[in-house]
Amino acid sequence: MTSHQIRKSFLDFFISKGHLIVPSAPLVAKNDPTLMFNNSGMAQFKDFFLGNGTPPSTRIADTQKCLRVSGKHNDLEEVGFDTYHHTMFEMLGNWSFGDYFKKEALQWSWELLTEVFQLPKDRIYVSVFEGDTKDNVPFDQEAFDIWKSILGDDSKIILGNKKDNFWEMGDIGPCGPCSEIHIDLRDQAEVDLISGKELVNKDHPQVVEIWNNVFMQFERKADGSLLPLPSKHVDTGMGFERLCMAIQGKKSNYDTDIFQNTIEVIEKMSNKKYGVNGTLGSDDYVDVAMRVISDHIRAVSFAISDGQLPSNAKAGYVIRRILRRAVRYGYSYLDFREPFMCKLVPVLAEQFKNVFPELQTQVEFVTRVVEEEEKTFLRTLELGLKRLDHIFENNTSKTLDGQTVFELSDTFGFPVDLTALIAKEKGFEIDEEGFKAALAEQKARSRKDATKEAADWIELGEIDGVEFLGYDFSESEAQLVKYRVVKTKTGQEVHLVLDRTPFYAEMGGQVGDQGTISVLDEKHPFNINIKDTKKENDLFIHISTDKNLVDRLESFDGPIAVFAKINTERHENIKKNHTATHLMLAAMREVLGSHIVQRGSYQNDEVTRFDFSHFSKVTDEELTKIEDVVNEKIRENIKLDEKRNVPIDEAMSLGATATFGEKYGDFVRVITFDPKFSVELCGGSHVQGTGEIGLFKFTSEGSVSAGVRRVEAVTGLKALELLRSQTATLDKIKELLKGAIDLPKAIESLIEEKSSLQKKIEALENEKVQALKGDLLKSVKSISGVSVISAKVEVPNADSLKQLAFELKNQLENPFIVLGAIVGDKPQLAVLIDENLVKEKSLHAGNIVKEAAKLMKGGGGGQPHFATAGGSDISGLSDAISKAESFLQ
Ligand code: ATP
Ligand code: MG
Repeated sequence: MTSHQIRKSFLDFFISKGHLIVPSAPLVAKNDPTLMFNNSGMAQFKDFFLGNGTPPSTRIADTQKCLRVSGKHNDLEEVGFDTYHHTMFEMLGNWSFGDYFKKEALQWSWELLTEVFQLPKDRIYVSVFEGDTKDNVPFDQEAFDIWKSILGDDSKIILGNKKDNFWEMGDIGPCGPCSEIHIDLRDQAEVDLISGKELVNKDHPQVVEIWNNVFMQFERKADGSLLPLPSKHVDTGMGFERLCMAIQGKKSNYDTDIFQNTIEVIEKMSNKKYGVNGTLGSDDYVDVAMRVISDHIRAVSFAISDGQLPSNAKAGYVIRRILRRAVRYGYSYLDFREPFMCKLVPVLAEQFKNVFPELQTQVEFVTRVVEEEEKTFLRTLELGLKRLDHIFENNTSKTLDGQTVFELSDTFGFPVDLTALIAKEKGFEIDEEGFKAALAEQKARSRKDATKEAADWIELGEIDGVEFLGYDFSESEAQLVKYRVVKTKTGQEVHLVLDRTPFYAEMGGQVGDQGTISVLDEKHPFNINIKDTKKENDLFIHISTDKNLVDRLESFDGPIAVFAKINTERHENIKKNHTATHLMLAAMREVLGSHIVQRGSYQNDEVTRFDFSHFSKVTDEELTKIEDVVNEKIRENIKLDEKRNVPIDEAMSLGATATFGEKYGDFVRVITFDPKFSVELCGGSHVQGTGEIGLFKFTSEGSVSAGVRRVEAVTGLKALELLRSQTATLDKIKELLKGAIDLPKAIESLIEEKSSLQKKIEALENEKVQALKGDLLKSVKSISGVSVISAKVEVPNADSLKQLAFELKNQLENPFIVLGAIVGDKPQLAVLIDENLVKEKSLHAGNIVKEAAKLMKGGGGGQPHFATAGGSDISGLSDAISKAESFLQ
């Protein structure tokens, strides 16, 4: 079976068991503060497990793009060295939301693997949770019994501990035992020598876990205790690439048809062969490099097509590091010196066009972004190698200290093994312990930065999803149904959840609302200030930092009647900026071309910021044209056409613009301002008519990263304020220029005048210095063969003082020169001593000025033959000069 057939068989099998198939969520996690990238199939269903929403079906199956290079799951260092861990992989999964449980789940797993896929029964091992007395969770007897009846006996069942066989969503939340399915893919001869059972969970590359069935049946509280969940769920995940390896009879994921296309291209480009360089598992770096590259290009390409561009921070940095790791391996072991990763993007796009079409749609853009990243990194790499050479030259200890190794890996993307290898070639060792310590320190730092400690939700009432009223209302009665306290780095927040709310929660670039939630308690009514509203999965979280709020809430033990009201003035300004963003995108497509795609956006009550794909600077003329189009649309006062719950296919057929990396449901909201101009899928807030925006004005244009530009603009009163303040500046200038008509010309001539005056001043000063020099040369005292000048002079700056000293030197035999001056209210001292004198009399100008400067309350230093000092007490200058001179005696 090809990988395409295998994927399809999986999905078909679960359709036959009554499952609904849903698309993969984007690789980049949205609205989940605990996650940067989706790292398992269940991530997109979290809300259903937490009870914050209702799934479209109680049985769902899919294939999910996962990335495991950050946070709880980080397999990056394994990738390429082993043959079955990837950065990005597909996780096939089936779910039961309070529907079937262990019996069906395990039976179906067995049926699919052994009957549909015909995997050999005698090579399959399963694991069951053994229980944990400390945690008060029992042995999973139920799963054990089910497996025993499926397998006939218990000889292939392994008992597993908490680490391998107990799953938890996080520190708190749903959890439960799991049952893994492992397969032994070794040759019979090896199996005869040692049983597969001995090798399960022992990191053997051909005895691997392929499927994990998680049974959510408990909830972990913040105090560590476990409560049974009212409805139990199944969450399974099977590694697609590993499954293909098993079915296709291969010994490595990379030998399946999933990776073969890419590897072939890499072979051609590098003129090297894969898999002939040593036995599997040996550390032949040509093979490792090809595995790394064929793996990493998938992660990078799909992340970019899902909206995550490489950058210097957070999720973007994760992507950048993956890409750099691949480039580095290509550079070191396949001798690539020019961008090569970008050439693999079209290969992948073609291969996955029917599974994840988003890559094919953006293939050109992704290719260019990857190429630009590669170019930049190849330059950095050269610099890093030079830096290393320099370190080797200046290091006599023959060990590279841990901090340096860490910096190389952190700033230049040099993995330790590479540094070690290069070091070895030069006869150096690296301090691995020191490196590990530096790494651990950084990890601890970033963990500390990231932690927000959340306490349990205090539940006051039940809800099934939150009703959002904000499209129609700015205020409403509601029930406060739960709250929790979150400790942050700066203090404490209280998170409040209402059953219905007019507060918009930050999403799709639009900031969250601020406002007030009034508690309608008859005896003690009070107001809660809401400073932000955020989404956590599908919950709307109203954030308050009011003091004593928790104390006040604690006196309630049921739902609290409240009146919620947003700050409407702020919200109106946000709306203007959001609608302006739509108009701007449409205008850009008219002016710059249809390749303009949104790559990020942000709107608050002050500005709209918009990132988009475009490969050159947007010129001033183009910006003006775009502004013209937008302002024309504003003057047309186009009415808002808002349609909710439009089936996604219908919306797309209207020509709606969707944003890559956004997850859309089956029903979407469509925002139209003139069907011929702007139609967008959007959940944000908009003005009723474009005329409300008043005025649109760009404030900046620049580059964010390769292939992506950013513009910022203001609207409404802000735009007017901007123009006013600019006019005021102009008026002020006019006044200063005494009413000149042509301002730019007047300023130009001022600048010219200034530079010609400056030249004149310099010439005059030079003349003065020359005259001074003449006087000083006349005052030379000859003391036992030494020409001594010691004087207080008048010079315009410290530089002239130095210059003067050196010019004097050139005309004297054996000079000893002490010059003092007052420059801008501060005493300055310079001492120059002939090189011969320095040696003969062991004089040191640096030490001399240091001592002398004390008398003018200052300090300084320099070389033995020349040094300068500054001070703060003018009255001490003469004494300082004498002191310096006295050193000659
Ligand atoms: P392992 O111990 O092999 O790393 P895991 O315990 O981390 O696996 P789960 O979190 O249970 O795996 O994920 C479910 C399935 O996803 C696994 O059974 C495996 O087939 C697959 N899988 C997990 N991590 C990776 C990865 N990095 N690359 C490819 N497949 C993976
Ligand atoms: Mg793992």
